[in-house]
Amino acid sequence: MFDHIECFYRPGTLREALLLLRKVGKRGAIVAGATDIVTRADRSPRFFIDVTCLGLDFVRKNGRGCTIGAATTMMALEKSPVICGLASGILARAAAACGSIQNRNMATVGGNLANASPAADTAVVLLALDAQLVLAGSRRKRKIPLAEFCIGPHRTVLNGELIEEIVIPALPGGGRRGWSFQKLGRTETDISLVNTAVGLQADSRGRIKWARIALGAVGPMPLRARAAEKLLLGNVLSVELLARAGDAVMGEVSPISDGRASANYRREMSAVLVRHALRECAGHAGIRILD
Ligand SMILES: Cc1cc2nc3c(=O)[nH]c(=O)nc-3n(C[C@H](O)[C@H](O)[C@H](O)COP(=O)(O)OP(=O)(O)OC[C@H]3O[C@@H](n4cnc5c(N)ncnc54)[C@H](O)[C@@H]3O)c2cc1C
Repeated sequence: MFDHIECFYRPGTLREALLLLRKVGKRGAIVAGATDIVTRADRSPRFFIDVTCLGLDFVRKNGRGCTIGAATTMMALEKSPVICGLASGILARAAAACGSIQNRNMATVGGNLANASPAADTAVVLLALDAQLVLAGSRRKRKIPLAEFCIGPHRTVLNGELIEEIVIPALPGGGRRGWSFQKLGRTETDISLVNTAVGLQADSRGRIKWARIALGAVGPMPLRARAAEKLLLGNVLSVELLARAGDAVMGEVSPISDGRASANYRREMSAVLVRHALRECAGHAGIRILD
């Protein structure tokens, strides 16, 4: 499977990894849990640089939010009390939805993002949480919004860099907030046909103060449904508003048909999942949905 690989490097420090990355250039590839790499037909890389021994497997919380090392596995996210307590635990739930136990023991959050699959389950949640990525290169580090990281299916802005950390800024405070992660797959361990992460907050009169709606597997990359978010602002949740939000979502997605599902089915299910997520958020926030 990896018979085309001439050398597998396992550096012990970030600096060493970055120097190696510079040295091997385009002939090299980063590897973490290898759960995506193992499925690839691309046999062009000659060198692998393993990032699992760089000390990048951590979850830290401070007053400004939460930082996750890129090599943190899905299983570690699932079990982290910090992640389980963040935004109704939607990131933990997304991590727990990434395939089988065996897969989640190996798969990392950095790999999930860098693979840039439109269906990546943690990407859609991190997009809704307005996450930022710290990208490290041999000469500089930069911090960018996750929203600017993917530039197409399996294409990112990485340029001789690796993802070092994922930063989740502190979430808006106050009560009456709710979050939801929804995934539709053919089986429990299959990748998403559609996934969504939704968050909202209402004021004391039930009017929506802010809403975040992210979707995956319904466009070239995970996306924010900005029109649907805007539609909810300042309004009280009602069955009619939920229907209109679903319609707005259908207008914002651009799914493809493939062996798993048709574009039409994905579009319809985007609305269904978002409506379902809004209901779950309302339940968490203690908001009544008017008939
Ligand atoms: C059976 C199976 C089921 C799956 N089910 C799901 C699912 O339900 N949901 C889902 O979202 N995914 C699923 N996946 C996909 C995969 O498990 C995830 O995308 C996983 O998180 C990838 O992480 P990894 O550490 O294995 O990445 P790797 O395979 O090691 O790497 C993937 C890509 O990311 C790059 N990379 C890795 N780490 C970094 C880094 N720190 N900085 C820069 N680049 C990096 C690599 O160079 C490569 O291009 C499944 C995979 C399999 C095999």
